[in-house]
Amino acid sequence: MKILEERIIKDGIVKEGNVLKVDSFLNHQMDVELFHEMGMEWKRLFADKPINKILTIEASGIGIACVAAECFHVPVVFAKKAQSINLDGEMYTSKVESFTKKKVYDIIVSKKFLGPDDHILIIDDFLANGCAVMGLIDLINASGATLEGVGIAIEKGFQKGGAEIRAKGIPLASLAIVDSMDAATGKITFGTR
Ligand code: 5GP
Repeated sequence: MKILEERIIKDGIVKEGNVLKVDSFLNHQMDVELFHEMGMEWKRLFADKPINKILTIEASGIGIACVAAECFHVPVVFAKKAQSINLDGEMYTSKVESFTKKKVYDIIVSKKFLGPDDHILIIDDFLANGCAVMGLIDLINASGATLEGVGIAIEKGFQKGGAEIRAKGIPLASLAIVDSMDAATGKITFGTR
C-alpha cells in the first residue's frame, strides 16, 4: 500500500535489534485517517470472506482494529495480556513471546466473545516472528471459530512470521512488507509476496 510505505519512509525510525519505530503515526500517536485507508484496503482484499468479527491483541493492535471494524461493520474483540491467570474455564488462553519485550505472557479471550459461529479476521500492527498471530490462531482454534484471514499493517519480511502463516495456507494481507532496514543509514526497502 503506497501511502503506508511512503509514511514509513517519511516518519519511521529504524532501531537496533530489527525494531522499526512508527510511534508518530501507528502505535502511540495514531493517524486515524491513515487507519481508515488501511481498513478500506483490507475490506477490499477480504471482500469475498464472510467476516463477522475482528480479533486483535492489546495494546497496539486495538486502534487499527477498531477503525478497520468500522469499515467491515463488525465488532472487535481484543485478546488481553495477563501475567498470571486463574484458569476458571471461562477463558480461552494461549502463550505469546513478545518480540519487543522478550518475555512470555498469557493471552486470554472470554468464551462469551469467540465461538463456532464466528468468522474471524485477525488484525495487528506488526508481523515479525509470528508469535502474536499464532497465539491468536490458537484461541480461534480452541473456540471452534473459523479463521478467514490475517491483516497486518507492517510485515517485516526478513523475519519468519509471514512465511510460516503463508505456508499454512492462511490468507495474509500485509499492507507494507519491509524487506530490509538498516539502523546505521536508516534505509528501508519494501517488497511484495
Ligand atoms: P511477533 O509476535 O510477530 O514476533 O511480533 C509482533 C508483535 O511485536 C506486534 O504485535 C508488535 O506489537 C511487536 N513488534 C514486532 N516487531 C516490531 C517492530 O519492529 N516495531 C514495533 N513498534 N513493534 C514490533
